[in-house]
Amino acid sequence: MVSAPDLLVVGAGFFGLTIAERCATELGLQVLVVDRRSHIGGNAYSEVDEQTGVEVHKYGAHLFHTSNERVWEYVNRFTGFTDYRHRVFGKYQGQIYSLPMNLGLINQFFGKAHTPAQARELIAEQSAEIATEDAANLEEKAVSLIGRPLYEAFIKGYTAKQWQTDPTELSPDIITRLPVRYTYENGWFSDTHEGLPVDGYTAWLTKMADHPGIEVRLETDFRDLREDYLGSVPIVYTGPVDEYFDHSEGRLSWRTVDLEQSVEDVDDFQGTGVVNYNDQEVPWTRIIEFKHFHPERVRTHLPGKTVIVHEYSRFAEADDEPYYPINTAEDRAKLLRYREKAQAEPMVLFGGRLGTYQYLDMHMAIGSALSMFDNRIRPHFAEGAP
Ligand code: FAD
Repeated sequence: MVSAPDLLVVGAGFFGLTIAERCATELGLQVLVVDRRSHIGGNAYSEVDEQTGVEVHKYGAHLFHTSNERVWEYVNRFTGFTDYRHRVFGKYQGQIYSLPMNLGLINQFFGKAHTPAQARELIAEQSAEIATEDAANLEEKAVSLIGRPLYEAFIKGYTAKQWQTDPTELSPDIITRLPVRYTYENGWFSDTHEGLPVDGYTAWLTKMADHPGIEVRLETDFRDLREDYLGSVPIVYTGPVDEYFDHSEGRLSWRTVDLEQSVEDVDDFQGTGVVNYNDQEVPWTRIIEFKHFHPERVRTHLPGKTVIVHEYSRFAEADDEPYYPINTAEDRAKLLRYREKAQAEPMVLFGGRLGTYQYLDMHMAIGSALSMFDNRIRPHFAEGAP
């Protein structure tokens, strides 16, 4: 039990736990980590479904990948990784396609047997309809990058569901590129390292926090402790930056995802981990079937049953889980004002996806926590400052 902490970390997600682990292990500090949820791990938290024995990612499918060697070395201190390689399929008008867009998808969609050069020529012809620099909305931008037929099948309906907005009403800046691979390569990620934690996310996160210098206090909201610690103990805050300042500059906008979990009475529901639903009429965006993330665990999964999740995307209301920053021009202006306030806040560092209002993959959250530790925290304690 940490009685008088040297550091308070708000949030037991990957960012907060990386800071806590480094401070306890390398600097010998006493670290108190608080989280208002009833579990550690933030959005990467997972648990084993009791009925089926399948590990379920409670806040949406989490696939680990990185090309950052430092992060890879660091995470391997706490867990081994399986050799899982992520692939995504998409359903459109009754057919299943292998994503991301590649030569296989193009040939299947157009009913051809094009070579890479022929496929390139076809997409170049189709995308010549609009010049990218003239695109006034997301639809025009996408058509200028991949042509209208592929846009209408694989981007239009999915994007409309993600944003609850017709793509002609969305900013062209939402997409910068729409990569098309002119090979049959269908790995979803192209990082050097990829895999899933052998014993699951929660075992990994628990090991990070397993140090006598770290106390994790769950179901504890920073807002209730603020007066006790602010100004007297250095704080690393990974909660929402706008909430920290009582939304004084207005709320930052987010998209959320509703996850509808069910157990199905079949051994295998869809034959793979993720299927996107590209038709606009189908209300969900994706179905996740978790057992496919760990084929090596087949003996621990109850035969004849499987856990699936239907995902529905929408704009977040005040009490919803914030998942993806919307990042409108208005959001960016508010964020600048919050950043100014954050810099003036004594002894508080803001980090993680909520504290910086950025979408961060797990390896990015861990990498930026390691940088904060190197650049801000270690020097601070080395100087012997309070
Ligand atoms: P979080 O995990 O959000 O942790 C922040 C913690 O702070 C939370 O536990 C919260 O309860 C706590 N907190 C907030 N405010 C307070 C307060 N006032 N008091 C106490 N506690 C507070 N990344 C990948 O690399 N691969 C993926 O496949 C992937 N899939 C994703 C799918 C979805 C649907 C989402 C939303 C994210 C996905 N991510 C993925 C990103 C991943 O979840 C993030 O990288 C990671 O969560 C970032 O960690 P964090 O510590 O910054 O934030």
